[in-house]
Amino acid sequence: MSDFISKKARSEIFKLKPYVPGKPIEEVKRELGLEDIIKIASNENPLGPSPQALKAVQENLNQIHFYPDSNCYHLKKKLSSFTGIEEEGILVGNGSDELLKLIAETFLNRGDEVVFAVPSFVEYEFTAVIMGAECITVPLVGFKHDLRAMREAVSDKTKIIYICNPNNPTGTIVDADEVDDFMAHIPDDVLVIFDEAYYEYVENRNYANSLKYIKDNRNVITLRTFSKVYGLAGLRIGYALTTPFIAQAVERVTEPFNVNMLAQLAAIAALDDQEHVEKSRQMNFEGKQYLYSEFDKMGLNYIETDANFIFVDTGKDSQEVFGELLRKGIIVRTGDIFGFPTFIRVTIGTQEENARFIDGLRGVLER
Ligand SMILES: *Cc1c(COP(=O)(O)O)cnc(C)c1O
Repeated sequence: MSDFISKKARSEIFKLKPYVPGKPIEEVKRELGLEDIIKIASNENPLGPSPQALKAVQENLNQIHFYPDSNCYHLKKKLSSFTGIEEEGILVGNGSDELLKLIAETFLNRGDEVVFAVPSFVEYEFTAVIMGAECITVPLVGFKHDLRAMREAVSDKTKIIYICNPNNPTGTIVDADEVDDFMAHIPDDVLVIFDEAYYEYVENRNYANSLKYIKDNRNVITLRTFSKVYGLAGLRIGYALTTPFIAQAVERVTEPFNVNMLAQLAAIAALDDQEHVEKSRQMNFEGKQYLYSEFDKMGLNYIETDANFIFVDTGKDSQEVFGELLRKGIIVRTGDIFGFPTFIRVTIGTQEENARFIDGLRGVLER
C-alpha cells in the first residue's frame, strides 16, 4: 500500500472485507471455455423480469438523455397503495443495498453499536463498519435468528438492529409472536431494520408483519427490493417503508438522482404484473418440493426455506463442491463464507435448471 493511502485514507476502510459476489456467467465462460452455464448463486428470478417491465424499458430508451424523477413520484404512489404506508414514509434506492448505506450514513457515528445475526446478509456489517460503528454479532440458533439474545445484546450504545427475514443464507423466518415479543422489549431509541428482500416468497402463515410497527409509529424501517421476485436485479432498485420522520432524515444524505429512469419505469410495470409474481412464486414452490425430495433421496440435510434458495449440507468441502459444479457449468454459492464449510446455498431455478443441478450434484457427491 502506498504511504499516501495508509496515512490519508479513513482507517475504517481497512476493516472492510471485500464482498464476494456470485460468480458471473461471463466470467465462467471466459475462464473455463464453457458455453452452457446456469447461475443459481444470487437468488435472481429464473423467469426473468415481467414482460411488462421489459416493455416499459424498451419504450422509454429514447428518454434517457433526461434526468430521472428524483422523487420517484409515480413509483412511490404505487408502492403506497400496495403497502398502505404513506408516500412520505417511502424511500427508493439504487437497490436496497444503497438504502442500507444511506441509513448507516444517517444514523451511525464512530463508536456506535449495531446488532445483527451471523450468518446473515453481509451488507449490515459493510455499511456499519464504513461509518466506524462496532458490530455486535449474535449467532443463529437452529439456523434461526435468536431474537432473545439479540435484544439482550442491546446496550446504551446500540443504534440499529438488523433482522433479515427471511434470513439470507438460511431461508429461515422469525414469526409474528417472536417479533411482537422482541419489539415489546426494544427501547424506542433503537432503530429496527427488517430486511425483507424475500418477502414475496414467504409461505409460512406466521410470518411477521413488520409494517404494523411502522403504522404504530415505532422507529422501524422495512426494506424490500425489485431484485428478487421482480427480476430486476440488473437495474438496481429497492425501497424502504418507514415513518415520515425517518424518511426525511435519510433523504438528507441521498443523492438527488439515485434511482435511474428505466428502473423506476420497470418497477412500476412490474408491480402492475402480479401475475408474473404469482407465476414466479408457483415455480419456486414446485422447485422447492422437487429439490427437497431429491436431497432426501441423497440423504442430505437442508434447512427448510421461506425464500427462493436452499442452504444444504453436502457433507463435503464447499469450495470443492463449488469447483466441481463449476466445471459442469453450474454456479452456486459456497457456505464457507457464511461459516458453514460443507454447505452450499443454491437458488431455486427453473425445473430444467434444478434437474441439471441435482444431476451435477449427484455426480460430485457420487450419491
Ligand atoms: C439480495 C438481497 C438484498 C438486496 O439487494 P438489492 O439488489 O440491493 O436490492 C437485500 N437484502 C438481502 C438479505 C438480500 O439477499
